[in-house]
Amino acid sequence: MSTFEFGTDASFGDQDTSSFGPSEVTQLTAVDLDVRFGGVTSKGGITGSNPESGPIGELLPIYQNTDGSWAITGNRNVDAVLIGSQWGTLNLTYSFPTSGSNYNGVGLDTNGVNNYHLDLGTQQQAAARAAFAQISAYTNLTFTEITETDTVHANIRISQTADADVPSAYGGFPSDTRGVAGDIWFGRNNQPYYDLAAKGTWGFATIMHEIGHTMGLKHGHQDYTNSDLSFYFGSFPRPGTQSLTPDRDGQAWSLMTYTPAPFTNSNFAGEKMNQPQTYMQYDLAALQYMYGANYTTNAGDSVYTGS
Ligand SMILES: [Zn+2]
Repeated sequence: MSTFEFGTDASFGDQDTSSFGPSEVTQLTAVDLDVRFGGVTSKGGITGSNPESGPIGELLPIYQNTDGSWAITGNRNVDAVLIGSQWGTLNLTYSFPTSGSNYNGVGLDTNGVNNYHLDLGTQQQAAARAAFAQISAYTNLTFTEITETDTVHANIRISQTADADVPSAYGGFPSDTRGVAGDIWFGRNNQPYYDLAAKGTWGFATIMHEIGHTMGLKHGHQDYTNSDLSFYFGSFPRPGTQSLTPDRDGQAWSLMTYTPAPFTNSNFAGEKMNQPQTYMQYDLAALQYMYGANYTTNAGDSVYTGS
């Protein structure tokens, strides 16, 4: 993909409202962050890092394959869901800010999205806690919920916004150069599914997906081989990884791809009430590559019962 296509990706917003309803735009990522935040110099641009106490995002080492593609782990389908950055700590905090002013300071979202701040809904908060619990069960990461204030800031912050410029949702990758790293915003435009974030719903899957971005997971359907991600990661040039192989590009393998099933459309449509309830195998492998495997989860005998 070219840099141009990065910009094109942001037009998911148009697709979403026209034909897919609340689907696609849900998955805006750094690609879209570039468009949304890259041109905000008139408002001062992005400053500082998240967390405000210091830059703790880390770049993952990448190397080039003989065919010109870029690798991190050497397994293409694991690499396909790695953006190439991780948090430099295993102990992360998260919060559900209750005021747009909480975003002021070094990590300010200078695009003004916080001016339209809305609290994350009750079901959404429960879904987020469930997603964090899943990730800690898979990896050595721990997550501690804290109360966000104007002076106390969490690594991962999740809010809604009434800003009409946010067509769906987005989450910021770990970074030591971007203030939006770790911030997740859910828009309110044509998004009837977000409030009802029970397990198995679109809302629940989207919470997991956006949190996945903040952990360092990228879209599995997107090929960044010829892209330059340095706008987000500072290091120049910074290419990205390939997409999932076509036979594995489906949400049975990763909830970070828009493709519902291999060789189908790439719009993350699927069924609104039959969405992934957990991270999938390539998501797990990527998370464990970055943060280690948690061998204490179900370490003893497990008993499965069916009824
Ligand atoms: Zn996404």
